[in-house]
Amino acid sequence: MAGVMAGKRGLVFGVANNHSIAWGIAKRLAEEGAEIGFTYQGDQFGRRVQPLADSVNAPFVMPCDVEDTTSVDAVFDKARETWGSIDFMVHAIAHSDRTELKGRYCDTSRENFVRTMVISCFSFTEAAKRAADLMTDGGSIVTLTYGGATRVMPNYNVMGVAKAALESSVRYLAVDLGTQNVRVNAISAGPVRTLAGAGVTDARFMFNYQRKHAPLRRTVTIDEIGGTGLYLLSDLSSGVTGEVHFVDSGYNIISMPQLDELKA
Ligand code: NAD
Repeated sequence: MAGVMAGKRGLVFGVANNHSIAWGIAKRLAEEGAEIGFTYQGDQFGRRVQPLADSVNAPFVMPCDVEDTTSVDAVFDKARETWGSIDFMVHAIAHSDRTELKGRYCDTSRENFVRTMVISCFSFTEAAKRAADLMTDGGSIVTLTYGGATRVMPNYNVMGVAKAALESSVRYLAVDLGTQNVRVNAISAGPVRTLAGAGVTDARFMFNYQRKHAPLRRTVTIDEIGGTGLYLLSDLSSGVTGEVHFVDSGYNIISMPQLDELKA
């Protein structure tokens, strides 16, 4: 198939269903000719991911829980066995205990702090290292982050701290892997209605606030995030690494919202 991803092969971690950001990116990659291996976490998600993967002729779909390193290794073994090398990887994985995605950050428990960091941050470093080992002809790696990494968002709490560490990991990995011509970038997406997005308390309020105050006066779609994923994972962005690229209707540039009622 012709397209900017023709001949490119890679892995997408983090599709749960057809609302997932990872699916928005995978669809765009497939439309442009990419061959994609998918992972899913647990059989329940597997039943949703399999038909999506089939719809883009995925050569394999593997279970993977990033808390279990052997299941991560198995995915890369499968990629090596199937293709020999890969060109791209998408990491769209995050988790924290819902009960701590509300209230005060300072109430975060040690156990949930560590688990959130391992799943939402360290898994990226672990997967990126394995992906780079398979990127014998260079490659591109993308993860997903959120504005709560650098500015305080109500209820985002420990996930904001994990995203800050994730964004820092992007920069360190960009340097580590740059000499192999492996690029590492993050997309900072505005709020999207997904399973993970709904896990943050008052998600609907955040959604409405973004719609009211972002320069574009709307939220973003997974297709729009997919378009940026396509750019960052293809040779169109060959000179770009270590970046956090916002896809948030411009919300991140706002200091003070346009509140007409305050002028009265
Ligand atoms: P989603 O629920 O569709 O995807 C989250 C994925 O993480 C799921 O596929 C889930 O199975 C996976 N996951 C969680 N724990 C895992 C584990 N232990 N092992 C393997 N996989 C695991 O939600 P999404 O919104 O598409 O989330 C994808 C990424 O985008 C996340 O990193 C999220 O933080 C980020 N993000 C989301 C939003 C939003 O508003 N939805 C905004 C910015 C960034």
